[in-house]
Amino acid sequence: MAEALVKKNPGKILCEKCGSVILLENAAIWTEVPDGIYLPAMKTTDGEGAKGYEFWTVSDMFAFENVGFCNTVENIKYLACADCEIGPIGAHMLSDKKTFYVSPLRVKHDVPSDGTDTVDDAQPAPCAE
Ligand SMILES: [Zn+2]
Repeated sequence: MAEALVKKNPGKILCEKCGSVILLENAAIWTEVPDGIYLPAMKTTDGEGAKGYEFWTVSDMFAFENVGFCNTVENIKYLACADCEIGPIGAHMLSDKKTFYVSPLRVKHDVPSDGTDTVDDAQPAPCAE
């Protein structure tokens, strides 16, 4: 019964800056990454980059409602909000095409709603090279 151990996001995951929906509720799985994944500093802050050890993950680019790529460094593509381009909010390894990581520290978590809110059109951004 491995499924009982799967923790999914109870509410939508939103862009911290513009509020765009990045992932709908229950779209992502909480994943611990023992080795950590380094994310550079956000464009809009003076902060330092940092390693994250816990992420929301999805297995398909189309699971995202709204995401783009900001840049690729070595074998890592960094994810950004497709609307305001804030990022990196997560990462995707070119060596692992089935996992997309979103840092819970760089997004807003919506509380579960009663389903009366509106949903943005899904517009996965094309990969920018
Ligand atoms: Zn945004």
